[in-house]
Amino acid sequence: MTTEPRIPAGLRLEDMLPVFGGPDAAAVPDQAWCPGCGYGVLPRTFNAEFDRLGEETRIIGVVDIGCVTQVAGQLDIETTVGGHGRTIAVATGIKRILPHAIVCVFIGDGGVAMEGLNETFHTAARAENISVFMYNNGVLADTGGQLTTTGAIGLRSSTTPGGRAVAQHGHPIPVAEMLAQMPGTGYVGRASTHDPAHAYRAQKVIANALRCQVEGRGMAFVDLLTTCPTSWSMTPVEANEFQGEVIVEQNPVGDIKPLATDG
Ligand code: SF4
Repeated sequence: MTTEPRIPAGLRLEDMLPVFGGPDAAAVPDQAWCPGCGYGVLPRTFNAEFDRLGEETRIIGVVDIGCVTQVAGQLDIETTVGGHGRTIAVATGIKRILPHAIVCVFIGDGGVAMEGLNETFHTAARAENISVFMYNNGVLADTGGQLTTTGAIGLRSSTTPGGRAVAQHGHPIPVAEMLAQMPGTGYVGRASTHDPAHAYRAQKVIANALRCQVEGRGMAFVDLLTTCPTSWSMTPVEANEFQGEVIVEQNPVGDIKPLATDG
């Protein structure tokens, strides 16, 4: 398959003017995620929002363990890696030492709602001024696709081949809704990557989470619903359809705890 651009007859590449470019911070190399992985939709969005913060803003990313670790290679910001489920605690330390930096956590649903559940809620209770982005596909993808506590009812995984059933596996833990109840969070939102319209709207939610930190309003938390066709045993198209028709129905997107608008 050729990778050369297809140019209409009579037009030369050097005569064309760019009408849509990538963000300055998009030093995005080849992705190593599986074809159709929902994670790959997000780096451009994050880089665009980081551009908006300006070159003078120091931005530090703390990435958790799992498929999400590859986020570190997709963002043109300083990054470090924490222990599984402990990155929110690592980010707390960095923010306290460097209070003027924008500190962001990139972490999977296992890290937030299983190994790191303690850290998640205690950090919110302390109103730590960081932004946490949970890449939520309902599975522990890099260890074989086992169901996590956030996995939607009906989600197929290696440990729920017939789909998550409440009677057998219990209800999903609504982490975002629970965090929204806590006075230490300044913003909580949810977005999905399953189609272009939702991916576009995700940028607003991510922007709100960064603004929450810039304004010092406490912990910001975003539930980023992402597909994992590999662990769900679906094609990428089937995974996007399942996310839109089942997962988003159970987990409505948008602001869950809106950002305060007072001065
Ligand atoms: S295993 Fe799932 S989450 Fe990991 S890269 Fe593949 S599709 Fe994405």
